[in-house]
Amino acid sequence: MRKKQKTIGLLGGMSWESTATYYRELNEGIKEKLGGLHSAKICMVSVNFEEIEKLQHIEDWNGTAVILSEAAMAIEKGGADFLLICTNTMHKVAPQIEASISIPILHIADATAQRLREAGIKKVGLLGTRFTMEQDFYKGRLTEKYGIDVIVPDELEREIVHSIIYNELCLGTIDENSRERYLKIIDQLTASGAEAVILGCTEIVLLVQQKHTATPLYDTTAIHAEQAVLEALSS
Ligand code: GLU
Repeated sequence: MRKKQKTIGLLGGMSWESTATYYRELNEGIKEKLGGLHSAKICMVSVNFEEIEKLQHIEDWNGTAVILSEAAMAIEKGGADFLLICTNTMHKVAPQIEASISIPILHIADATAQRLREAGIKKVGLLGTRFTMEQDFYKGRLTEKYGIDVIVPDELEREIVHSIIYNELCLGTIDENSRERYLKIIDQLTASGAEAVILGCTEIVLLVQQKHTATPLYDTTAIHAEQAVLEALSS
């Protein structure tokens, strides 16, 4: 029996290091479900992260929304049935992107929150860029929509987490000392009552994986990709 497959829209390039993981995991997920030579139907636009990063750091979020909305419109035109924004941070402008297209967005925080809820987790630590850890678009959604209490590292540690993302992980650099720093911060979140920690940046899993810590980790890249596979195969 042939299962009909939806086309997954990918808004990628933020950074391409993590979009490559999405691409692999989506294809592996479809292959696992359908077998044989089945692979994921994907329509992707990959942006230039240098442009996005510059706008982020001068807080020109409207500028990022214009670039990403144009990309999303091209993805819709290309035949995608739904859209993944392949970064946690840029969900800050998800409402503007959503308003520019007519296909639905599969929101990364919703997919993650559903997993946390299924596991009965009420208090969670969050690691990500400074924007994701400090602003309300992500934490607020987890708390208001799903009743999950979110804690973040202190200011100095947030700066460490943020700068390792931009200066190492988005450039493909994996450093043992940076892993140790992340693991220490994860331990501190656990000591502060976090039952689990969200890897709320799509590159963090390149550095820290479940095998490195006893604290349950929620890898947003894998969760987002798994949810997309289910959506692609749903009727
Ligand atoms: N990929 C990262 C995230 O998930 C950071 C890069 C960006 O700022 O988009 O937030």
